[in-house]
This record gives sequence, structure tokens and C-alpha cells, in this order.
Amino acid sequence: MPIPIHDPLHPPGGALKRLPLLKAAVTFIAAVCLCLCGLLYLQLDQSRHQDLASARVASVNLTQAMAQQAQDTFLQADLVLASLADWIQADGFGPVMQPRMHNTFARRVQSLEQLHGLFLFDKHGHWVVTSFDNLIRGAGVADREYFTFHQQNASLIAHIGPAIRSRQDGEWIIPISRRVNDKDGNFQGVLMAGIKMAYFDQFFRSFSLDDKSEMTLALADGTLLARRPFDEARIGSQLAEEHIFKHDTVVGQGGDAVIRSAVDGIVRLYGHRHLQAYPLVVTAAMSEEAILAGWSGRALQSSLIVALVVLGICLFGWVFTRQVRNSERIEADLRKAQEALELIATHDSLTGLANRRLFERALDIEFGRGARQHSPLSLVMVDIDFFKRYNDTYGHVAGDHCLAQVAQVLKDCCHRKADLAVRYGGEEFAVLLPDTNLNGAMALAEQIRHRVIDKHIVHSGSSTGYLTVSLGCYAFVPSSLDSIEVFIQRADAALYQAKHNGRNRVAALSMQDGLDALERSDR
Ligand code: GH3
Ligand code: MG
Ligand code: MG
Repeated sequence: MPIPIHDPLHPPGGALKRLPLLKAAVTFIAAVCLCLCGLLYLQLDQSRHQDLASARVASVNLTQAMAQQAQDTFLQADLVLASLADWIQADGFGPVMQPRMHNTFARRVQSLEQLHGLFLFDKHGHWVVTSFDNLIRGAGVADREYFTFHQQNASLIAHIGPAIRSRQDGEWIIPISRRVNDKDGNFQGVLMAGIKMAYFDQFFRSFSLDDKSEMTLALADGTLLARRPFDEARIGSQLAEEHIFKHDTVVGQGGDAVIRSAVDGIVRLYGHRHLQAYPLVVTAAMSEEAILAGWSGRALQSSLIVALVVLGICLFGWVFTRQVRNSERIEADLRKAQEALELIATHDSLTGLANRRLFERALDIEFGRGARQHSPLSLVMVDIDFFKRYNDTYGHVAGDHCLAQVAQVLKDCCHRKADLAVRYGGEEFAVLLPDTNLNGAMALAEQIRHRVIDKHIVHSGSSTGYLTVSLGCYAFVPSSLDSIEVFIQRADAALYQAKHNGRNRVAALSMQDGLDALERSDR
């Protein structure tokens, strides 16, 4: 493989700087994908918050409606109780009054849908009058919470107690009751109106909610009165132990909070409202899953679309980067091939030295440079002595090998980057030495001559017994008027002189000598 020789026409590092296309493409694709994912996240987060905000508004409206309905229901029953209590307190409830009272009770119950029945108990808790036709004569209601409450509290305002099963017919009712006093203010009994739990159940079921949602009516202390979905086992249980009543946000008239239920682990939006007139609380809970059902669908759809787009971009990026890598590989191969071609076109294949083509280009450049910088330019012509004989004696293959050895000597002697060793033709070589005067050229020529001798290449056709070379040197400071042909001719003339004087020697022509020589040859 020939050693690349300094080519003044192709200085290294002259190629265009390549843009980091691969890195830029990967960064760009990653940035686009990240932006898409970021936008998707922002959009989904925003719409999730919007859906939750709408659900909060719906929850406020729902608890408002529930509170209004509960207040109306109890207020109507309470008004009935208040008017009846006034009447009983004024007229008493002796046996004469009882048939009239029964009729009045029955009519009031018929007029109010929510009423299960009206009951009057004496101070021992025994039934006196009810809205029902058959009067129960059992042990009484002295054990009931509402009875003991009025027995022990002188207050005449209405009291709402925990839900109970009616001893009349077993139906679930919520008792609202008032104390009945005699004219002197002594406890005489209790007047109670039973509100059908089914009435609330029916109202609760009129709303369109999923089965994970919950609606409750409870006493202010958290005792459950009515619930959707209806669960008999939980009536009378303490909501205070469960969810919203335990939460710090349950303060004031109403509010909402997102809480994970300790009972079923479902996250719900709880809205609650305290009734103004009675110690009651209504709550409505919608499962987050139901609230965000629409959002989840949209999120899945958008995520799928974005995932497909990201996948497409990544696929495109993969194809693109592969293509860029291929192009780079092809380009590198082409560059290598071009360099190899350049080497073949400008170098001699046998010796690896520059050929005439590169020599002529270098001469052009160095002539110009020498003229511009007024620096001397030297040329050493080298010719192997009696080489025809060598070929004839040892054959052409050995001759070729010998040429390669001489070429190696030339290469070894050209120390400076700008020095150029050339195979000029056949067994003739040239060494172009920019910025070198005649002394320098002759010193190098002597060095070459000695080194060739030192190779001890046996040559029986030579008078020394070894292969030798003759060298002709010429040096001058080129000007724009000088021609390359004359420059070579003068170095050649020096070589001729060396041959003429006996070979295995160095001859030189100074500028003046060169003119003389030409004059001699002209003659
Ligand atoms: P002188 O000392 O006067 O230079 O005598 P010479 O024999 O060297 O000169 P001449 O010009 O008579 O012979 C040159 C020979 O070089 C002729 C040719 O066979 C041989 N030659 C030229 N090119 C090559 C080559 O590429 N390979 C080989 N093996 N021989 C070559
Ligand atoms: Mg020769
Ligand atoms: Mg020759």
C-alpha cells in the first residue's frame, strides 16, 4: 500500500463540517413526543378538574333539594302535632274526647302522604288514641327513646328520634313527637307522628344515580334514619363512625369532600347539608368512578390517539435515523474509494512515489509560492547507473524490486512535509525541495547516493560491484517569467554531467551555470 504523500492541492481538514443530523433528529423527536405527552397530561388534568367541579355543583344542588324535602316533610307533620297538642292540652283526652280525636287523627294522616300514623300516649306510655281503627293494648311505649326524652325534658318543642319499627304494623318509621302537659304544666303524655321511611326511600329513588352512589338522612349526631340504597341492617347505625361525619370538613351548614370510604374502599364525593329548622343532616355521595366515567372514556381515547401518534413519530424517527446512518456509511465508503482513486491517480503503483501528474501539480504550486515568497526551489534528478545491465543480468522482477528499494531510500530522505519524491519515469526519479537552496539540495543528494550504496545491492555490471545512482541538482528562486520545462531541463543537465563525469556522483548547476550549460548545449 503506497504511503500517502503530502498533496499541496488537497490540504487535510478542508472538508465541510458535518452537521450532527442524527443527534438533532433524535433530540427533536424526543422533544415532540414529550410535548405531546405533556399537552395530553395538561388537557386531561384540566378536564378532570372540570368534571369534578361540575359534580360538586350537582352535589350542592342535590343536597339542597334533599334538605328542602326533609324540612318540608317534618315541618308539615310538626304543624299537625302542634295544633293537636294545643287542642289536647286545652280539652284533655278523657274517654268522651277520644272518638273525636281518633277521627281527627285519621283525617290528618289521610291528608299527609308522609304520615304513617298519629299516636297519643298517656304519662305511662300506654296507647290512648291513634289514627288506626284498632287500638293496641300492649305493654306501651315507655321504653321508647322519644317517650323517655319527653318524660325527662320539660321542653315543648318537637323532638325527632331514631328510626323504629312501628308496634302497630311493623313498618319502619321516623318518630317526630311533642310533650303533652296538663293546664298546670305537668307531664301528661306524648303525641307522636310516625313519618314513613318509605316516603324518603321513594324520594331518594327518584334521582338518577349509579348503584355506588349513596343518599342519607341522619340525626345531627350521625344516627342513620333513611338511606339509598336501603339497608335495614344499617338503620340506626352511627354514620359518625364511617365517613363524612368523621371528616374535618363537616362543619357549618354544608359542604363537600372527596373521601375514601372505610366501609367499601370506594372514593366518593360527599356533599352534606344541615337542616335549618331541625337537628337533621342530609348527605349525598357520588362515586368518583361514576363522576369521572365520561372523563375516563375521553382520556382513554385521547391517550390512544397520542400513543399512536407517538408510535408513528418514533417509527418515522427509527426509519429516518437508519437512513441517515446508511447515508453516512455510504458516504464514508465513497470517501474512502475517492481517496483510493486519488492515490491511484497521483502515485506510482510499483514504488508508491508520486507520479508525473502530481509532480506537475506540485511544481505549479511551488513555482507560484517561490515567486511570491522569493524563496529558493530545488530539484534533484536521480538516475540508476547501468540499470539496463542490471535488468539483463538479474531479470525484470529483480529490477522492479531494486526500483522499490531505491524509492524507499528517497522516501526516507525526504524529512520535510513539503518535500516530494517522484518516479519521473523508468529508472529515473526526482525530488522537489521547496524552500531549499543548492547546498541543501546537494546535501540531500549526497545522502541519497550514500544510502543507496549502503543498501549493498549487488550489481555485477557496475564498476563498484553494487548498485549506485547519479544525481543532478539545480536550485533557483523562481519568478513569474521562469518556465517549469527549463527548470527540469537544468536539473537534467546536471544529471547528465554526473553521468558524463563517471556516474555514482552528484553534480549541480547554479543559476549562472545553468545558463552556461544551456548555452553549451545550444552550441
Ligand atoms: P545509464 O547508467 O546511462 O543510465 O545506463 P542505463 O542502462 O541505466 O540507462 P538506459 O536508459 O540505457 O536503460 C534504462 C533501463 O531501465 C531500460 C529499461 O529496461 C529499464 N527500465 C525502465 N523502466 C523499468 C521498470 O519499470 N522496471 C524494470 N525492471 N526496468 C525498467
Ligand atoms: Mg540509468
Ligand atoms: Mg535513464
